[in-house]
Amino acid sequence: MTDLLGSSLTSLLGGRSATALDKALGLRTAEDLVRHYPRRYAERGELTDLASLAVGERVTVMAEIRSVTVRQMRQRRGSILEAVITDGTATMSLTFFNQKWREREFRAGRTGLFAGQVTVYGGKRQLSHPECMLLPDGVADDPLAVAAFAGALIPIYPAGGSVTTWDLQKAVQVVLDQLGEPADPIPDEVRAALGLCTLADALWQVHRPTSREDVDTAVKRLRFEEAFTLQAVLAQRRAEVAALPATRRTPASTPVLDAFDRSLPFILTEGQREIGEQIRADLGRDHPMHRLLQGDVGSGKTVVALRAMLAVVDAGGQAALLAPTEVLAAQHLRSITGLLGPLATRGQLGGGELGTSVALLTGSQRSAGRRAALLDIFTGDAGIVIGTHALIQEAVDFHDLALVVVDEQHRFGVEQRAALAAKSRDGSRPHVLVMTATPIPRTVAMTVFGDVDVSTLAELPSGRAGVATHVVAGEEQPRHVARVWERVREEVAGGHRVFIVCPRIDDGDDDADGRVDAGPTDDAGEGAGATPLPMTAVVPLAARLAEGELSGLRIATLHGRMAAEEKEQAMRRFASEDTGNAVDVLVATTVIEVGVDVPRATMMVIMDADRFGISQLHQLRGRVGRGSLPGLCLLVTQAPVGSPARERLAAVAATTDGFALSALDLELRREGDVLGSMQSGRRTSLRLLEVARHEEVIVAAREAATAVAEADPTLERHPALAAAVATLRADEHAEFLEKG
Ligand code: ADP
Ligand code: MG
Repeated sequence: MTDLLGSSLTSLLGGRSATALDKALGLRTAEDLVRHYPRRYAERGELTDLASLAVGERVTVMAEIRSVTVRQMRQRRGSILEAVITDGTATMSLTFFNQKWREREFRAGRTGLFAGQVTVYGGKRQLSHPECMLLPDGVADDPLAVAAFAGALIPIYPAGGSVTTWDLQKAVQVVLDQLGEPADPIPDEVRAALGLCTLADALWQVHRPTSREDVDTAVKRLRFEEAFTLQAVLAQRRAEVAALPATRRTPASTPVLDAFDRSLPFILTEGQREIGEQIRADLGRDHPMHRLLQGDVGSGKTVVALRAMLAVVDAGGQAALLAPTEVLAAQHLRSITGLLGPLATRGQLGGGELGTSVALLTGSQRSAGRRAALLDIFTGDAGIVIGTHALIQEAVDFHDLALVVVDEQHRFGVEQRAALAAKSRDGSRPHVLVMTATPIPRTVAMTVFGDVDVSTLAELPSGRAGVATHVVAGEEQPRHVARVWERVREEVAGGHRVFIVCPRIDDGDDDADGRVDAGPTDDAGEGAGATPLPMTAVVPLAARLAEGELSGLRIATLHGRMAAEEKEQAMRRFASEDTGNAVDVLVATTVIEVGVDVPRATMMVIMDADRFGISQLHQLRGRVGRGSLPGLCLLVTQAPVGSPARERLAAVAATTDGFALSALDLELRREGDVLGSMQSGRRTSLRLLEVARHEEVIVAAREAATAVAEADPTLERHPALAAAVATLRADEHAEFLEKG
């Protein structure tokens, strides 16, 4: 940035003020400061409703001084000045020790802004030693204060540490006075087309509004700018990807894929077929595919991915499938070799002629198996390689890696894609397909995954019996909990399998496997007063049930502290069709959350269900009712009726529409949590834009940014936008590195 906005605050405000702003709020440049927007505006003449202030709250109030008294303290030397302030109805007092001098300016009838923490003394609410700024009453003793209060609206800034809202006001004024016309990242033609004001006008109006309309006009433009810069980053990334080389994978014929399609025991859904076509088209281009395949749990993503992998195998290349955990990698190996049948036996003794071999590579593998897998990957004998993400980080040499499928992974960002470069031959990149079972609302898809193409599997395969969900309130209905265990027994007696999910591994753990998603922030408030009830934990619950309610049933546990081998064995026995060695009931943490497919599992009991977030519950229950047998999911909770946690559970029980739940989840969460959990970056740059609420802004910004980036890919004709984009990309990169 060549203009004033890039200047340091030290040069503009002097060392002392600049240091305070940096320390308290991390503001270093003029741009940082003017982008620190007011949180709200106090209306001149409109006093703060004093009765509404809560004890303990940090507040900035506008009120009128009613009276001032000064008295000597009895026990100690010194004086107390007490000013009673009023909003016309309620009163409150301000107290100062040894500040008798204030008597001169604290005259009855004057209005001021007072900031501090609300405390109670002698049954009365007060602010002790508040920061004060009296509004000028004709006496122009402080020109900056006069300027600050000239308008009808007084900005109230998010303050911090020793820096008050009017310190900020004064500092902003100094910068605005020198602002001039800073270069605008939004091109003139875009502003004109959308009726947006200039950056200079927006900054003046957001900090010094004369009316509510000023604020609205400014916020509209600044919010658009956030969306626009972000979309410009994404457009640029799309363009960069389009410029990367990739090998076309267009086989003359597809014998393996054809044989696979013929062998499928079901008919592909319309969606599966269509997306299959899209992917085939992508694979035929000479730049890498970056496609996100989203579909609710059980929508049949694995089959879509497998068909893409087989097309690549038919073209002579290799496909890698990356799973987030070893359990899932092992499960993918089972289900994929199962689906492939004889097509997965090529190269084995007595194996088929047609097909490929499937290799598994995980961190905990023993060295002999690992060496064999690495060799098959290197020679190309393994057409399909399944593993954890270590596959792309470690020194694994592929013969010809053509396609990478990433399962259930939100954080497959730019950096991981870059790591893939090293895996491919002669610098060409593999094609990438990312699968996710968390339905992503449109706006999030556009902001977080805006640089990839999105395919959605909207329909579930028919013949799916579905899952019925009920909330079981342990506190109010202890008998119902007893009934839960009876239901488990009935289910097992019918030859079915049951999951029991707990938020913890052991008593006293903070959480299980670090995977418990605490849910929306309302929990924190709820928990603050009441003693938290002990959460149900895998190990003690499994022991108790084995002795008591479920004695005689075959119970196994599954959690993150078990060795990979033990986990694998527990899962295998639970998934096993062989009734002899099977496990009936699996007591587990959320390690089973994603992808696990056990058609015989018909029931899931989720203990302390209120500890999980909406999307997580939806994912969990997606593990049952996947076959032709109807599923049952019981959400056991101690949360009282009417509490936000209980409402969340009711919402989950009321619908199986993953998109609706995902949108609700998004609404309930703080913005940063949503974006933060999905991909690095994005967070710091969004101040006014809320992904859940500003869909039209995002859509308009995306359209405009795409047009600009297409006409001027390097943004050389848009230097201000180029600078903003570079800053955002640098921030995202820094944040990524920080998080690791
Ligand atoms: P997802 O990964 O999307 O959760 P899967 O691909 O694991 O779903 O599919 C869930 C189950 O549905 C699997 O047992 C799979 O074999 C089966 N399935 C997939 N597609 C179809 C279809 N078109 N018709 C019937 N069953 C299907
Ligand atoms: Mg899956």
